Amino acid sequence: MSVSTGRFAPSPTRPLHLGSLVAALGSWLFARANGGRWLVRMEDLDAPRVVPGAADEILRTLERYGLTWDEEVAFQSRRLAHYDAALEILRERGMVYACSCSRADLARAASAPDRGDPPPAGVYPGTCRGSLPPGKEIRAVRFRVPAGVFTFEDLVLGSFSEDVAASVGDFVVKRADGPSAYQLAVVVDDAAQDVTEVVRGADLLDSTARQIALQQALGLPTPAYAHLRSFSRPAARSSASGTARCRSRRSTRRASG
Ligand SMILES: [Zn+2]
Repeated sequence: MSVSTGRFAPSPTRPLHLGSLVAALGSWLFARANGGRWLVRMEDLDAPRVVPGAADEILRTLERYGLTWDEEVAFQSRRLAHYDAALEILRERGMVYACSCSRADLARAASAPDRGDPPPAGVYPGTCRGSLPPGKEIRAVRFRVPAGVFTFEDLVLGSFSEDVAASVGDFVVKRADGPSAYQLAVVVDDAAQDVTEVVRGADLLDSTARQIALQQALGLPTPAYAHLRSFSRPAARSSASGTARCRSRRSTRRASG
């Protein structure tokens, strides 16, 4: 039986705000109450937004509040080879493809008058799913989202389901000019660190179905999820890139009893 393992994964782009601190506390309490491990991982892939010294400041804040961690702090910026390896697995399985769409291309596709039923704003229209338009440069690699609804039982919010293909479409897992995207890195790291429970703010709830889709494609286990609603910020995660944040989601939720 695997040891209960939780993690706190802040972006070192600023000092911890109250919501993040509460998410850290919730995750720490969950792990410690189960006699488990608690890990800290710096999600510092978005290099232009990383603030020098912020990671240290976050760690000192955790220490001040007694939120001690096990094992060395992981930095995503030092784990790029692992994300590339996962991307290669997806490539071998035909689960990713090259995309040449610019933001302007996507905006045009969404408003094209000849499209009978364009996808909602922010949903990738699948332009490059079949093949790359000739003569176009590769801008990104997209995950070929399987059809169907992804469902999970949130330990706090209850049952949640999302048709990722309909609500997001094929999403970016790597930019041509940058490291792997957030969703892929998180999935790879949670598996590598044997994370069994992800306790985090509800602002990340809408990432979960995408992460489960990636876990299934890579043959990785899905941890338990608990999203802390009370302390979420109204806006979605601001550092996530390449994915639509304003979109419709087919979801059903119920409060846990
Ligand atoms: Zn494209």
